[in-house]
Amino acid sequence: MTMRIAIIGAGPSGLAQLRAFQSAHTQGAAMPEVVCFEKQEDWGGMWNYTWRTGLDQHGEPVHGSMYRYLWSNGPKECLEFADYSFDEHFDQPISSYPPREVLWDYIQGRVKKAGVRDYIRFNTAVKNVSFDESSKQFTVTAHDYALDENICQQFDYVVVASGHFSTPNVPDFAGFERFEGRILHAHDFREATEFKDKDLLIIGSSYSAEDIGSQCYKYGARSITSSYRTQPMGYKWPKGWEERPQLSKVEGDMAYFIDDSSKRVDAIILCTGYQHHFPFLEEPLRLKTDNRLWPLSLYQGVVWTDNPQLIYLGMQDQWYSFNMFDAQAWFARDYMLGRIALPSKAAMEADNASWRAREESLETAEQMYQFQGSYIKHLIDQTDYPSFDIDAVNTIFLQWKTDKKQDIMGYRDKSYRSVMTGTHAVPHHTRWLKAMDDSMQEYLRETNSKAKVATL
Ligand code: FAD
Ligand code: NAP
Repeated sequence: MTMRIAIIGAGPSGLAQLRAFQSAHTQGAAMPEVVCFEKQEDWGGMWNYTWRTGLDQHGEPVHGSMYRYLWSNGPKECLEFADYSFDEHFDQPISSYPPREVLWDYIQGRVKKAGVRDYIRFNTAVKNVSFDESSKQFTVTAHDYALDENICQQFDYVVVASGHFSTPNVPDFAGFERFEGRILHAHDFREATEFKDKDLLIIGSSYSAEDIGSQCYKYGARSITSSYRTQPMGYKWPKGWEERPQLSKVEGDMAYFIDDSSKRVDAIILCTGYQHHFPFLEEPLRLKTDNRLWPLSLYQGVVWTDNPQLIYLGMQDQWYSFNMFDAQAWFARDYMLGRIALPSKAAMEADNASWRAREESLETAEQMYQFQGSYIKHLIDQTDYPSFDIDAVNTIFLQWKTDKKQDIMGYRDKSYRSVMTGTHAVPHHTRWLKAMDDSMQEYLRETNSKAKVATL
C-alpha cells in the first residue's frame, strides 16, 4: 500500500516538505500519497499577508502576524533556498532586505516551478490528530470550509508545519483594564500609520519590539518608549525613542516603570512573543517548549521521539529560516522514505541531550547562529539537499549585527553577496526610512537601471 503522509500547513516549512518529496520523485523515487492541509485560502503561511485580526471569515483564529509595511529583518542572503536562488526568480539583482510581498513572491516561485499546488487542500483547518497504537495509523480530522464538510482520513505519518509565531503570549499588567488608550499584541498590529502623532509604549525587547517600534517611528509616531524585562536592546535610537525597564503599572494614560520613571502614552503594543500551540493534536503528541534553539523531544530537531511517525518542522527559534526548513524537510523526507534509519529511543534522547547541552552553553549571538548553522550542515550532510557555504552565511549574520549596531534605522540599506550564486545585491532605489510604499511594483521599479555592484 502507498504510504500516506499528512502535512499540516502550507507555509515555508510545509512547502519545503512538498518540494522535498517532489524533488525525490523527479529522480525516480515513488511519490507517497501526500495531503497538505492549509486553513488559509492561499499558500505562504505567515508571508501570505492578511488585513484580518481576531477570527477569520470562517471563525478560525487568524494565523497571520505580519503587518502591512514589514520588510525582511535579516539579509535575504541568509535565508536563500539552495535549490532556487533569488537570481533565478527575479532574473536581476535585488536589494538585501526585501519587503514581505517580494519574499512571498520568491517563496511561491519555487513551488510553482515544482508544480506541487495540487497536493494542498486549501480552506481546510485540521481540528484533531489522534494515533492508534494497534493500527499504527494517525486519524486526521479537518473541516473543509470551501465544501463545508468534515474530513476524516488515515495517515502513516503526520508532519506538523503549522508555525509557532501565531498564538500570542499576552501578559497582564496592573491597571491595564482601566488604561485610557489602545492595548494590542504584535500579532494584531497591521498598520503603522494608525499611530502617527501618538506616544507609543512597546513592551518587549526582541525583534517585534525593535521592528514595530521602527515602523511606527518611520510612519510618524510622536515618540516611542520601549520597555525591557531582561535587557535593553541598546541600539542608537533616533530622537524620540527611549528605553525603559519593565512596566510596573498604568494609571489612566500614564505608564510607570520599575525604576520609578513614568511616561504618558496613547497606546501600548505588547511585543511579548508567541506560544507553541497545537490545539489540534491530542495531548501526548503535543510539543511543549519555549522559543529556543533546541526544543527537546525532537530527534535531529524534527522527529518526535515518543512517536517517530510524527514530525515537526520549523519549531526552533529562527536565525536561519527558509534554508533551515529545507534541511529539515529533506531529512524528514529521507527518513520517511526509509533512506535514513533512526537509532533506538535511548540513543535519540542521548543525541538530543548533547545538542541541548551545547545550546545551553551558548552565550553570544554569534555562537547562536553558528550553532544553528552547524545543525543545518549536520542535516544537509545526510541528504542530497545542495550544500552551501554556511560559514559564509554566518559571516553575513555577523556583518548584519554590526550594521544594526551602527545604524538601526539604516541597516536595511546595506547589501551582501549571495553564497548561492555569488551575485551582489544592489542597494534599493530608496533608503528604507524614506520608502513608504512597500508594494512589489514599487520595489522592483528601476532595479534594473540602478543595478550596480555594492560591496559587503
Ligand atoms: P508559518 O509561516 O507560520 O506557516 C504555517 C501555516 O500553517 C500557515 O499557513 C497556517 O495557516 C497553517 N496552519 C496553522 N494551523 C493549521 C491548522 N490547524 N490546519 C491547517 N493549517 C494550519 N522569517 C524570516 O526569515 N525573515 C523575516 O523577515 C521574518 N519576519 C517575520 C515577521 C513576523 C512578524 C513573524 C511573526 C515571523 C517572521 N519570520 C521571518 C519568521 C517566519 O515565521 C518564517 O519566515 C516562516 O514563515 C515560518 O514558516 P512555517 O511554515 O514554519 O510557519
Ligand atoms: P521573541 O523573539 O520570542 O521575543 C519575545 C520578547 O517578549 C522578549 O523580549 C521577552 O523578554 C518579551 N517578554 C515576554 N514576556 C514578557 C513579559 N511578561 N514582560 C515583558 N516582556 C516580556 O518574539 P518576537 O520579538 O515577537 O519575534 C518572533 C519572531 O518574529 C522572530 O523570529 C522574529 O525574527 C520575527 N519578526 C520579524 C520581523 C521582521 O522585521 N521581519 C518583525 C517582527 C518579528 P525577555 O527577553 O525578558 O524574555
